[in-house]
Amino acid sequence: VQLAGQAVCIGPARAADSYLNQDALLTVAKATGCDGVHPGYGFLSENADFADACAAAGLTFIGPSGDAIRKAGSKSAARDLMRAAGVPVTPGSDGPVASAAESVGYPVLLKASAGGGGRGIRRCDRPEDLSAAFAEAKAEAQACFGNDEMYLEKLVLRPRHIEFQVLADRYGNVIHLGDRDCSVQRRNQKLIEEAPARCLTPELRERMGAAAVKAAKAVGYENAGTVEFLLDPDREHFYFMEMNTRIQVEHGVTELVTGVDLVRQQLRIASGLALRLRQEDVTLQGHAIECRINAEDPVQGFRPCPGRVDFLHFPGGPGVRVDSCLYSGCELSPYYDSMAAKILAYAPTRMETIRRMRRCLEEFTLEGFPTNAELSYQILYHPEFILGECTTAFLDEH
Ligand code: ADP
Ligand code: MG
Repeated sequence: VQLAGQAVCIGPARAADSYLNQDALLTVAKATGCDGVHPGYGFLSENADFADACAAAGLTFIGPSGDAIRKAGSKSAARDLMRAAGVPVTPGSDGPVASAAESVGYPVLLKASAGGGGRGIRRCDRPEDLSAAFAEAKAEAQACFGNDEMYLEKLVLRPRHIEFQVLADRYGNVIHLGDRDCSVQRRNQKLIEEAPARCLTPELRERMGAAAVKAAKAVGYENAGTVEFLLDPDREHFYFMEMNTRIQVEHGVTELVTGVDLVRQQLRIASGLALRLRQEDVTLQGHAIECRINAEDPVQGFRPCPGRVDFLHFPGGPGVRVDSCLYSGCELSPYYDSMAAKILAYAPTRMETIRRMRRCLEEFTLEGFPTNAELSYQILYHPEFILGECTTAFLDEH
C-alpha cells in the first residue's frame, strides 16, 4: 500500500470481506478508472467467475479466460481433458471414491477437486481408514474452498514434484520456459524450489516440456501458467498433476535462469501482443534456488506466528534477489498466508548457488517473530539435498 500510487480501502481484514469480495474490487476498479486487473496469486487469482466478471465490466483480466480457468480449475475434470489430449495422468478415479480405491490399489491420495496450497488432501493406506480420511478431506475442502467435490489418485511413493512454466498468447503460440523442482515440501506445500531440476536429462526435459505445452493447448490457455507433474523415482514415468492458471510464488527462479521477466510477459500477452519469444530462443543458463521465508515456528509444529518486525536485514550482492513486503517496524497480518519473503540465489553452477544461498540465510536477520530460515539453512547442508536427490518425502523422512 505504501508503494502504490493510489490506494483505496476495499473492506476489513478478513479476506472474505475484502480480497475475495468481487463486487468491492470491481466497484473500486471502475471508480478509479482502472483498465486491467492483475490477480497475483492466492485469493481470486484462479476464480473463473471473477475473470468473467472483469471481462463483463470491460476490464482486462491479466490471466487466462474464465473458460480456461474453469477447464483447468476442477482438478478431476482436468484429468479427463489431459488423458484425452495424450498427457499422462496418475492412475485414479474419476468417479465415486470407494470402488475406485480398490481398483487403483492402496495407498491412495484423496484430493479436493477445487484444492490448492496442499489443502484438502489426505493419504489413506488401508480400506478401513478410507471413510474417515474421506470425511476429513471433504470437510477441509468445504472450509477452504467452499466446494467439497473429491477425487482419488494412486499415491506415487517418493516422487519428485517437477513443474513447467508455460506462456501462451491469444494467437495460438504456446512455449515453455523450462522446469522447476519443488520436491522439498512440508505437508504438500513447497518450501525450497530450484531451476532447472537436476534430475532431468535433456531428453526427459524435452518430453515433459512438450507434454506441458500440450496441456496448455488442451484447455485453450492464454497468459502465464504452470503445469505440475509428478516424476516417479526411476524417472521412467511422469504424470500430470494439475495446472495452475496464474503466476506462481516460485516464478522468480525461472526468471533467473531464462532471463525472461514473466510479469512483463503477462502484461504484454494481456495487451493482445503476440509472443516474441520462440521455443528455440529459450535457454536455461546457470542455476537458481528460492527459499520461502514463512512466519512460523518449526520447533513448535510450524505454528504460524506473525507479528511485528523489530529489526530486519536482507542479504544482497551479486546473484541475490529478495521479493518481500517486510520492512523494519511493519506488522505482518495474521489474517493471511504466513509466507513473508522469498530469498533467491543465482550462480553459474548448482553448488555455487547452494553456497550463495547459505550465505544469504546467514546474512538474513529478522527479529520479532520466528521463521523457518534456520530450517532451510540446515536443508542446504543435507547430503540428499546437495546431491539433488530430494523427493517429496524428504522433510518427513529426515
Ligand atoms: P495443490 O493444488 O494443493 O498444489 P497438488 O495436486 O498440486 O495440489 O498436490 C500437492 C502436492 O501433493 C504435490 O506437490 C505432491 O507432493 C503431493 N501429491 C499430489 N498428488 C500426489 C500423488 N498422486 N502421489 C503422491 N504425491 C502426490
Ligand atoms: Mg499444486
